[in-house]
Amino acid sequence: MICKHCRAENVDGREFCELCGKPLMNIHHIMEVDRWAGRVLRGILIGIFAGGAVGGIIGAIISPVLQSRFSVGEVFFGLWVGIWPGSFLGAFVGAIFGLLADGPPPSRR
Ligand SMILES: [Zn+2]
Repeated sequence: MICKHCRAENVDGREFCELCGKPLMNIHHIMEVDRWAGRVLRGILIGIFAGGAVGGIIGAIISPVLQSRFSVGEVFFGLWVGIWPGSFLGAFVGAIFGLLADGPPPSRR
């Protein structure tokens, strides 16, 4: 592995350069990217569940009203139809919230 700071040849697996002592792998940078991606992913997952739940509830309420048919089947149909767009929207909103909470990815610095 070649050091990016001084171009010295180093044995693979070394954490710091033999010649200049600078880190060969930017572990902190990798961890920051991981943490950032993790928060976005968590936002998406929370969004899917929250959006699905909200979409399902809205669908369960709206569907019988739209059909003017207040049956259990209609409520479940609305619930089922509402879950999917709710989950998709929730995933988007969750990802955006995850991005906004952390700022741009550290690689752009
Ligand atoms: Zn070096």
